Parts: sequence; C-alpha cells; structure tokens
Amino acid sequence: MFQSSLSLSFPDADQHLEAQVRHIEQHELQAEKHNDNSFSIRSEYGLLRLSATKDQMSLVVETDRDDGLDIMRDFVADYLVEHMPGIKLSDLVWSGNKIVVGTPANFRTMKVVKRVILNEGMLRLTLAGNDLDLFEDGGLHFRLLLPKKPNKKPVWPIRLTSGKVQFPEGQDELHNRVYTARYIRSDQGEMDFDLVRHKGGVAADWAESVSEGTTVGIMGPGGGSYINNNWLLMGGDETALPAISRILERCSPDTKGQVYLSTRKQNYQIDLQKPDGVEISWLQSNGDNELSSAIIDTVLPDDEDIYVWFGGEQNDARKIRKILKFKWKLKSTRFYCAAYWQKI
Ligand SMILES: Cc1cc2nc3c(=O)[nH]c(=O)nc-3n(C[C@H](O)[C@H](O)[C@H](O)COP(=O)(O)OP(=O)(O)OC[C@H]3O[C@@H](n4cnc5c(N)ncnc54)[C@H](O)[C@@H]3O)c2cc1C
Repeated sequence: MFQSSLSLSFPDADQHLEAQVRHIEQHELQAEKHNDNSFSIRSEYGLLRLSATKDQMSLVVETDRDDGLDIMRDFVADYLVEHMPGIKLSDLVWSGNKIVVGTPANFRTMKVVKRVILNEGMLRLTLAGNDLDLFEDGGLHFRLLLPKKPNKKPVWPIRLTSGKVQFPEGQDELHNRVYTARYIRSDQGEMDFDLVRHKGGVAADWAESVSEGTTVGIMGPGGGSYINNNWLLMGGDETALPAISRILERCSPDTKGQVYLSTRKQNYQIDLQKPDGVEISWLQSNGDNELSSAIIDTVLPDDEDIYVWFGGEQNDARKIRKILKFKWKLKSTRFYCAAYWQKI
C-alpha cells in the first residue's frame, strides 16, 4: 500500500469541502460521507480521503497500484489549483511517499513494430515495450502521445514536486488521444491497438504512414473496466469496437443482453466473441442518431442485474446519458456513457 498526504490552510475550508465533493461526484466518482467534515472517494486508482476543519483541509491518497500515487496526486493537484481560490502549485507539499521530479509512473515509451490494415475503415498497430502486465486488468484504455508537429523530436511529460504532471507546451506540444488496448501479450512485451481510419486527425494521419521502429509515448492503462452484471445493453460506433470486443470476451458465458454497433460501411463489421445470450445488431451509420435511438428505444427486462454501456460520438453520448440519468434513473454504478470522439 502506498500513501501520501497533503494539508492546506485557508479560511472556511470546511465549507468548501462539501461543495467540492459534490462537484467531484459529477465526474461519476462515488463519494462516501463519514461525517460532516470527512469524505472518501474511491476510483480505479485508489482511495482519496478528504477532511476539513474551519481553516484546514487534509487530503490523503492511498493505493495498491505502482502508478496510483502519481495518477491521484496529479488529479488532486489539477483539481485544487483549478477549483480552490488562491491555491497555487507551490502550496502543494506532499508527505508520505515523497515526489521526485521525473517521469510519471504511468508514462512509458514504446516502439511501433507492426502495422496491419484490418479493412478499409480500421488499421492495427503493434507496440513493443516492457512491463505490460498492468494493461491486462488495470483499465482498458491508454493515452497515445505524439508530437503535434510531425517529424518533431518528442519532449515527454514530467512529474513536478506538486504532483502535477506537466505536459510540454509551444513548439513541443503533444497531441494526446485515448485508445483501447485490444490485445496484450505481456510475455512477449507487445500490445495491439486498432485505429479508425478517418480524415483530418493528427493520430489518424500519423497511423496511416508511421514506420516500424518509431517511438511513441503512452500513458496508462486507465479508464473502462470489464463488466460482471447479468444483463448488458451496449452501444458503440467503430471507435468503441475494440472496447466492446474486449468486454464481451471477458463476460461470464451466462451473460445476456443486446449490443448495437454502428459502422460507416457494412464491410467494416467484424466477428465478435460473445456469450450466446448476447444479441448483436449491426446498424449502418447514417448521421441520423441511429445508435442513440436504438439504445433509448430498448425496453429493459425487469428483475435483471442490468448494466448499460455506450461509447461513441459526443452528441449521441450526451443524449443517452440524459436518458440514463434522468428518465431511467440509473445509478452511476449501473452505466458507463462516454464521448469517444467529437464531430467537428
Ligand atoms: C475511452 C476512449 C477509448 C477510445 N478507443 C479508441 C480506439 O480503440 N480506436 C479508435 O480509433 N478510437 C478510439 N477512441 C476515439 C479517438 O480517441 C478519437 O477518435 C480521436 O479523436 C482520434 O484522434 P485524431 O487525432 O485522429 O483526430 P482529432 O484530432 O481528435 O480530430 C480531427 C478531426 O477528425 C474527426 N474525427 C475524430 N475521430 C473521428 C472518428 N472516429 N471518425 C470520424 N471522424 C473523426 C474530428 O471530428 C475532427 O474533425 C477512443 C476514445 C475514448 C475516449
């Protein structure tokens, strides 16, 4: 177990605490209230404990993950500087596992070792690197970091003593997009990920012409998880095919449910390994909210342990999230609804 703590002095700290916890909950993190001035918030990375007196706020992060302290201290540092009046990075002095300036624990460089065109709409890259075990279970996704300017020598992020992870700016700015680790072969030090082929994206363009041996930066794993519920309603477009495929492969064989998948062309459909009781319906993406309509029109079975999952374009995600929260009144532990990309 790794632990680190931080104490901040400022007026009316106790009054700020509850408001801030409610704000954090809007990010679909579950807060547990212990008493008026003490809360804890659990995430996939560990536990954050918050407490306050009239003029002091204490924050403690606890985690079993090797990269957990760096991830949680970065979140806390970002959050405090953005939302707490008057707090600066230089005010953040962590005790416990002290912070040394350097490479964040969840950052690594990897080499592109293979590029395969799966079909007209998707290509697969294989990355090689060490210590990939955590990618099997520590979250489905990772951030791909590339120099924004093609052919520029990359400058990678560093962890500051405040806990904040600082990304390079100006000429050295990085393009930072989330992808799903599709297959992990940690014994061989390799990981595959699939990219949707589309026009006008730095990552998409880079993937079209990247050569073997190129170094990339990645941060992760993080975000997304396998699902253990009995009955699933899932929906996603091509960007979510890798995540949905991984989740269905790991479901219990008794799982039942309905999955809606949309592709731009019929021949972009893929074979998915899934439990027999899960029905797959392929939709043709027609720019007419076909995915959100299919999800919203689904009649959920009674008396089932249900989970609803969606990954796709931002407008669809917004529409579906509203229905899940306000019409179906699902608790945040019963659904995942994420904007995977934004139509611009
Ligand atoms: C949790 C998560 C997991 C994801 N997993 C995957 C994955 O495994 N594979 C994958 O391919 N994507 C995945 N995505 C989506 C991916 O991060 C976005 O599509 C991203 O915008 C691509 O970056 P880019 O640099 O190519 O384009 P950007 O610079 O982000 O955008 C440039 C232009 O391309 C358009 N654009 C972006 N994405 C698409 C698209 N999919 N189709 C059509 N136009 C697009 C934008 O509207 C914009 O006009 C995931 C996203 C999230 C949040």
